Amino acid sequence: MAGPTPKPRTARRSLWSLPAGRYFGIPVRLHVSFLVLLLVLGFLQLQESGSVVQAAITLGSLVALFGCVLLHEFGHALAARQFGIRTRDITLLPIGGVARLERMPEKPAQELWVALAGPLVNAVLAFVFLLALGVAFFFVPEPYGTFGVQTFGFLSLANLLLFGFNLIPAFPMDGGRVLRAFLAMRMDSVRATLIAARIGRILAFGLLVIGLFGNPVLVVIAVFVWFSAVREAYQARILGKLRSTPVANAMTKDFLAFQPNDPLEFAFWQRERFPQDEYPVVSDGRVVGLLAQKDVAGWNRSRTEALVADVMRADFETVQPGDSLESVFARLVEGPSSALPVLEDSRLVGWITLDRIRALLGGTAPPAPQNG
Ligand SMILES: [Zn+2]
Repeated sequence: MAGPTPKPRTARRSLWSLPAGRYFGIPVRLHVSFLVLLLVLGFLQLQESGSVVQAAITLGSLVALFGCVLLHEFGHALAARQFGIRTRDITLLPIGGVARLERMPEKPAQELWVALAGPLVNAVLAFVFLLALGVAFFFVPEPYGTFGVQTFGFLSLANLLLFGFNLIPAFPMDGGRVLRAFLAMRMDSVRATLIAARIGRILAFGLLVIGLFGNPVLVVIAVFVWFSAVREAYQARILGKLRSTPVANAMTKDFLAFQPNDPLEFAFWQRERFPQDEYPVVSDGRVVGLLAQKDVAGWNRSRTEALVADVMRADFETVQPGDSLESVFARLVEGPSSALPVLEDSRLVGWITLDRIRALLGGTAPPAPQNG
């Protein structure tokens, strides 16, 4: 529901959400608090009206509303799929839904389409429920006609509100992404994000002022929008820094390398003095493999006569000093190794690690994206 916001790769909330099936190949999860909310509301309605039918209608309308929120998320997910971006899962929370995309589209036009697809689903649903309302009003006999008008009227209005609310041009609403995508068609995407985030903060401030005159819900939304805008700007700055920094500025020349015919035992004893997650294996000035710390540690158990060449990985990527840290960072995070050799004219000139990039960024790193 809210706009796409990046979150850490690990799903911390998975403990608190239950699997609710897989649709279009995407797993859907229900947050526990969402189910509790439904039970509480159903109970309150039953107490207030004393009518099981009325309570059932209210609950049914709420479930249908969250069905609409779910379809909104599928709008994002299926639009993203058009551009080859997969969705890890969709979670329904009491405040809306969240689709965790594997990555954000790089092209502004694609981001625009992914961000718009969610609210567009609500626009279509509002129209469909309005038609249903008309049918219930004119053609359905009482008392079912009134139930239908009530339910479809509620769902039509709710979808209209979802459409409008999500198009507010501020992070974390989808409208914030739409605005950013529009700006990014004319300028660098980092600058576009910073401008969109500033507009988000101005909007949050406006909402806060209005909210302080008697609407606590607006105050909560204002705080939410403010922090989302700040986080978005922060991540854009990190991305900007990664993009503008060449590998040469972050690599180290101070690292230990082995030779293929070094005994593994030698590496085993050396690794304590030079702890590295991985070591380059060099032969005649050329990198021929990567030796992982955990494979070196394995020597202790087997105590074999194995050589470094026997356990090293010969299939590895290399980078150049002039490459931008942006692509290197992604490869280090997603690839099999947390370090890569830096080559210039096939010669090993440096060693770039995830830790060094993190240190350069001040101990943080941009996490994976999420589409609300
Ligand atoms: Zn959305």
